[in-house]
Amino acid sequence: MKVKVAINGYGTIGKRVADAVSLQDDMEVVGVTKTRPDFEAKLGAKRYPLYVAKPENVELFERAGIEIQGTIEDLLPKADIVVDCSPNKVGAENKAKYYEKAGIKAIFQGGEKKDVAEVSFNALANYDEAVGKSYVRVVSCNTTGLTRLIYMLKTNFSIGRIRATMLRRVVDPKEDKKGLVNGIMPDPVAIPSHHGPDVKTVLPDVDIVTTAFKLPTTLMHVHSLCVEMREAVKAEDVVSALSEEPRIMLISAEDGFTSTAKVIEFARELRLRYDLYENIVWRESIGVDGNDLFVTQAVHQEAIVVPENIDAIRAMFELAEKEESIRKTNESLGIGK
Ligand code: NAD
Repeated sequence: MKVKVAINGYGTIGKRVADAVSLQDDMEVVGVTKTRPDFEAKLGAKRYPLYVAKPENVELFERAGIEIQGTIEDLLPKADIVVDCSPNKVGAENKAKYYEKAGIKAIFQGGEKKDVAEVSFNALANYDEAVGKSYVRVVSCNTTGLTRLIYMLKTNFSIGRIRATMLRRVVDPKEDKKGLVNGIMPDPVAIPSHHGPDVKTVLPDVDIVTTAFKLPTTLMHVHSLCVEMREAVKAEDVVSALSEEPRIMLISAEDGFTSTAKVIEFARELRLRYDLYENIVWRESIGVDGNDLFVTQAVHQEAIVVPENIDAIRAMFELAEKEESIRKTNESLGIGK
């Protein structure tokens, strides 16, 4: 029996999670929701049974002539789990309004506070903590990227304090209501940014402080890390450890990857929607100076959390052990190929 998955919020993350679920042999999409009858709703209705996220908006869909199967309240009884991909903080409202009443398991995204769920999740770092759980939060794109990298360093080496700077894309490519055309914005100005504490929701023992800046770009985030090494280590040792992990892709400036623009150009040839599910680490950025290890990575914000949502579903329904789930997810999405 396949696990029946509902996606509440067919936006940037929701449509990618829906497509990724469809690629698995142990789960299926029973429906997706939209709030308004826009082009995304029209596309969604061609691919999946479409439901209305806000019951009061049913008439809008009828007037637009889009076929709907009902509202979120009709969808939830047909599903075993709902993946909430609604905007920041709306997931917590949906939990109180719908999910608890329906008695359904739910996955939330990184825009929610950690207390929305029983566990904050990253497949590599704490898969087992989500086993059998009812409410799980997949951490944000930046936190996923940081957590994967730190987990790999922590597993292979003895590390101390971590200092990291997040250079954040200001908005996603589709967003036209906000942005930053001119300027680089410290966000927040005072230390720390929320990313370090968010990493600690998954890896509580790490010593990390982060700062963050918004930049006028839409393509990817870039992270610059400085990690204290508590053992003698060479850059080659770190390259070799990271190259073992399929969810980390090592790229080289020598191949022409001079910026995130080039990374995305490469991804346009590689994947649907140029989705990069992996941490993209510049090989040449891995350097050791005394006790300090330096690493620079790029994170495709629209895609990196997608495999984590799939693994979270498997953990919550005890469909597979960690390694098996990650292997299946990787294979289905072409990760590590
Ligand atoms: P989005 O705006 O692209 O999509 C959100 C979707 O939810 C839209 O289709 C919207 O119509 C719908 N929606 C609005 N109100 C709703 C409601 N009450 N119930 C159900 N659906 C509703 O947003 P997104 O970028 O996909 O973000 C979704 C979540 O994923 C947020 O928590 C965000 O922080 C997190 N996230 C986003 C990114 C990213 O870079 N886009 C990366 C990682 C995590």
